[in-house]
Amino acid sequence: MRFKFATFGSMAHPVIVIGAGGAGLLAAWKAALSGAPVLLFESNSRAGVKILISGGGKCNVTHAGTIAALLSAFSERERRFLKPSFYKFSNQDILEVLASEGVETTARPNGRVFPTSESAKHVMAAFKTMLGRTNVTIRLNSRVDEIISEHNAVTGVRVGGELVLTSHLILATGGVSYPKTGTTGDGYRWAAALGHTIVPLRAALAPMIVAPPLPREWQGVAIRDCRLFALASRRRIGSWDDDLLFTHEGVSGPAALELSRSVASARESGDVDLYVDFAPGRDVETVDDDLNASVQSNRSRSVGTILETWMPNRLVQPLLQSAGVDGQVRGHVLPREPRRAIAHALKGWHIGRVAAIPIERGEVTAGGVALNEVNPQTMQSRIVRGLYLCGEVLDIAGPIGGYNLQAAFSTGFVAGNSAAADWLRASAQPDR
Ligand SMILES: Cc1cc2nc3c(=O)[nH]c(=O)nc-3n(C[C@H](O)[C@H](O)[C@H](O)COP(=O)(O)OP(=O)(O)OC[C@H]3O[C@@H](n4cnc5c(N)ncnc54)[C@H](O)[C@@H]3O)c2cc1C
Repeated sequence: MRFKFATFGSMAHPVIVIGAGGAGLLAAWKAALSGAPVLLFESNSRAGVKILISGGGKCNVTHAGTIAALLSAFSERERRFLKPSFYKFSNQDILEVLASEGVETTARPNGRVFPTSESAKHVMAAFKTMLGRTNVTIRLNSRVDEIISEHNAVTGVRVGGELVLTSHLILATGGVSYPKTGTTGDGYRWAAALGHTIVPLRAALAPMIVAPPLPREWQGVAIRDCRLFALASRRRIGSWDDDLLFTHEGVSGPAALELSRSVASARESGDVDLYVDFAPGRDVETVDDDLNASVQSNRSRSVGTILETWMPNRLVQPLLQSAGVDGQVRGHVLPREPRRAIAHALKGWHIGRVAAIPIERGEVTAGGVALNEVNPQTMQSRIVRGLYLCGEVLDIAGPIGGYNLQAAFSTGFVAGNSAAADWLRASAQPDR
């Protein structure tokens, strides 16, 4: 096959970035600001598609708080890796960058930071303006097919029939979730072919499908401030306190999304069952006492009616059924044992067994390029010369709350900075 060569003067293109998501955009911007002309390839017809759909179109751009607090939301391994880049480009830094482009932001009481306009479009408009002022050429509708390397060093990329030379390549291709947004896992395949270890990919922040199918009438029911927990072989493998939502096929909402990563991992060795605790802050004795007080002060009411103040109406009968209690029984004739059975059911109501967690429907992909093979100070591959990796292609998956975009921005910034610095250093050497 004959290739058309795209070169920069007589040399390779200084820095190439693949992927115009949060990581690639920050990498391109920072590399160009540091003095290296950048060519950015994006397979979509527009940049930042995932940013545009993030936070339901409002874009939870980062999380407020100290860098230490931000890091504490990640696992220890992720935290160690992210620490240098979070200090080099923090939550405060991205907010200042956005503010300098006229995008004001507001931190919600739970720490999640959104543009005050609640429009992801404004975040993307700011990025486009920033990039427009720098020496970044964006090529949309340009899917990179292959990374070319020689003797463990990057030499270029193939895009369609064109070979574009470079010795500094930033891989910012994201994960495999929401493949329609362009993230089809190319980065993992290339990194593996180049010798990197790919930590097995798993769903994270994904809805869970439950078997047997849940009753239709539960669809759309939300349980506020509950604890969703999961058991595998009777052992608790994880729990999350937040709202839970029943869907047509299982569970979603923040509690389910957050728990999905540990459930996906545990399902590799066996079945996992989901349970709801309707009173996370109280032990079963306290719940029983509270239930008793409620029953005593509503003596002529049925147990079913009393429980409606504790949980969504549509779930009362199923819960009483699981406790083996007739909902028509009046409070004043409810004996101690059935009451205790209800208290136990409120503390651990079995929803069902997890049948599937679709990786493509997760907000992020867990797993990816092994962190010990990338230098956290520079985002440079420890295996392939001239290769830099940033964002979700790495084995990083944070919780909901702006953490994942922050990880993409911080690692992208560092990758852009070090790729440009290396290129400048190399081009200053007289024999090149
Ligand atoms: C529905 C949804 C809502 C979310 N909401 C939030 C939120 O509010 N806050 C938050 O912090 N996180 C959120 N996330 C997660 C967050 O969006 C991602 O973690 C983050 O965008 C990852 O950034 P990235 O740059 O690494 O990858 P991406 O943003 O996925 O960008 C990768 C880019 O690479 C391009 N690409 C891939 N392969 C090629 C190729 N071969 N050639 C050329 N281009 C290629 C893709 O088209 C894509 O544009 C959300 C995710 C989803 C799916």
